[in-house]
Amino acid sequence: MSEQEQEPVKTICPYCGVGCGIQVKPGDEPGDMRFMPWGDAPVNEGRICIKGGAATEVVDHEDRLTEPLIKENGEFREASWEEALSRIVDELERIREEHGPDAMGFYGSSKVMNEENYLLQKLARRYGTNNVDNCTRMCHASTVWALRRSLGAGAMTNSMEDLGAKADVFWIQGANPAEQHPIANSQYFRQAVIDGATVIQVDPHANKTTKSFDIEGTDRHMHLQLEPGTDIPLLNVVLKTILENDWVDEEFVRQRTKGFGDLEETLDDFDKEAAAETCRVPLEDIEEAAEKYATAENAAIFTGMGMSQHSCGVDNVQNEINLALVTGNLGRPGTGVNPLRGQNNVQGTCDVGAMPNVLPGYQNVDDDAARSAVEEVWGFDVPPEPGLTNVEISMEAGESVHGLYVMGENPVMSEPDANEVAERLERLEFMVVQDIFMTETATFADVILPATTWAERGGTVTNTDRRVQRMRPVEKVHENTRHDLDILAEVGTRLFGEDGGFDFSDPEDVFEELRQVCPSYHGMTYDLLGEEGIHWPCYEPGDEGDPFLYEDEFTTSDGLGYVEGVRHQPPAEVPDEEYPLILTTARLIEHYNTGTMSRRSPTLNRQTPENFVDIHPNDAERYGIEDEDDVIIKSRRGEITVVANVTEDIKEGVIWTTPHFAAASANRLTNDVLDERAKIPEYKAAAAEIEVSVES
Ligand code: SF4
Repeated sequence: MSEQEQEPVKTICPYCGVGCGIQVKPGDEPGDMRFMPWGDAPVNEGRICIKGGAATEVVDHEDRLTEPLIKENGEFREASWEEALSRIVDELERIREEHGPDAMGFYGSSKVMNEENYLLQKLARRYGTNNVDNCTRMCHASTVWALRRSLGAGAMTNSMEDLGAKADVFWIQGANPAEQHPIANSQYFRQAVIDGATVIQVDPHANKTTKSFDIEGTDRHMHLQLEPGTDIPLLNVVLKTILENDWVDEEFVRQRTKGFGDLEETLDDFDKEAAAETCRVPLEDIEEAAEKYATAENAAIFTGMGMSQHSCGVDNVQNEINLALVTGNLGRPGTGVNPLRGQNNVQGTCDVGAMPNVLPGYQNVDDDAARSAVEEVWGFDVPPEPGLTNVEISMEAGESVHGLYVMGENPVMSEPDANEVAERLERLEFMVVQDIFMTETATFADVILPATTWAERGGTVTNTDRRVQRMRPVEKVHENTRHDLDILAEVGTRLFGEDGGFDFSDPEDVFEELRQVCPSYHGMTYDLLGEEGIHWPCYEPGDEGDPFLYEDEFTTSDGLGYVEGVRHQPPAEVPDEEYPLILTTARLIEHYNTGTMSRRSPTLNRQTPENFVDIHPNDAERYGIEDEDDVIIKSRRGEITVVANVTEDIKEGVIWTTPHFAAASANRLTNDVLDERAKIPEYKAAAAEIEVSVES
């Protein structure tokens, strides 16, 4: 290997949506590589968390899939690429002939690059269906829905850099950045508090974020520890307090919003004392927080999955938008409504159209003009009706859906009511999975294609604040693996012919086509992205991209921001005699979603090798549970055995666990009821019971 090939490559951490720049240093042999900091990386300036530092550990892991596999008589056997690809094409053609194109579902992945997700959604649409979705459905579909409708774009309104420097108050609701976005929390938010900013945290759990703001010599942190599922009444107390005290930015409301009267009407007979009791938070604390937010010069809202993963997720986020609009905290640095996105490309996967209702650039599939413009570039017709979301595809398995194409996803663990999901996948006629490891979902597949890892592929990813950045590859580790992009190009060409629109030589070639159909990426090229990346929207080459949105107007059809009053909707399942506790879920810093990668990383797995549940001491006493006992948590959908962590960090009556561990995943218990507009499941509140395991 030449000296030049040994140079470290600058790329992006494959884990969370902060999008930290890191370097990978190749060794003498393929697979021999290590992490190196990238000192002047644009987002993180060389800092990384434990996950980023351990990211190379999975690249040459012994569990890597290295050959295509075909299932025969219930067992997988190795196959050639030719046999595997022929089987896939034959089955996709058969399913379309026998059942029609909507009998297939396509799962993109937020762990995969823009170019690859772009190609997957194009494949689905060329096949004749809009049944294509990605795992953002599980995390922020409701956020995207509310932000698009009421402000114009389904993304962070501001950027981490501008917020860290300019916000005087951070309102963090249902997000735990110290655990999920560690560098954003330490580099931007915590530093801002040290420099004088105030944090108001709204969360049922006293978590790492809570503790991170316990800074000696500062007293600028409030934690409103509410009951899960009571975010709307808490924000309504805040809004009513703002109205009562004339803290409304009347000029902003008059010139830039509509719907304020609807909010006033909603709050007219609203009882703040009763609402505070529902939230189990002292009224005076909520009023104090309202004053801090409303009277700050610049106040920024951060929102996470504690808000979005509810059957009222859209309304939860709408109420945060209401708060920002009535106080004029939008359209300038240090303000806004800012979803903290989970995976490293969750924003980009949506941007490039891997969703059932929108084409690249969030152009509605049922908008004739937008669809025609895309069809002209693609050279084929796109079905005009929105397709099924991923949870709906899964619910239709064996009914209207007979085949599934899964790229880098693990629905058996990531979807709610996981035991039921596994049963549904058994009913499919055909499933292909392309992945780097044998996931829990891949075990149900008919064909498995071995893909390359994050470090071996080039392309672009878009981080939580809309910054599009390039990932650069090192040499492939296993000869017979293929990049997701090459697999999709090959499948597309086999299905639709040489002129079928899948003849791409490399990721840049795909990006050049993406630019043509995605207006907010149109001004970007690989050269212009360089090492800094560019925030979208970037309409023409030379645009520098916008670190904050909506300076002059919103991008809704009339340019106004939409205020809409919302009322409390309790979770679909509330505690009763049989299931007397509220189960809520969250993630850990050392693990990553379904754990496909993080459970295989020795450094990460060592930190927390097994699942646990946080339970309040009073509940523990009531159920005869001692700290570190093995306990069984049960819901109406299943049970898991985990270790008890008795702690006052959680409220009495609430228990808290994680989805990362296969046999003990919280998703064996969670409820698959959906927000009816955004179709996001209610992961954050289910009724449960707990008991000591007799084997403990
Ligand atoms: Fe990677 Fe996120 Fe950690 Fe940065 S904060 S190193 S992007 S996991």
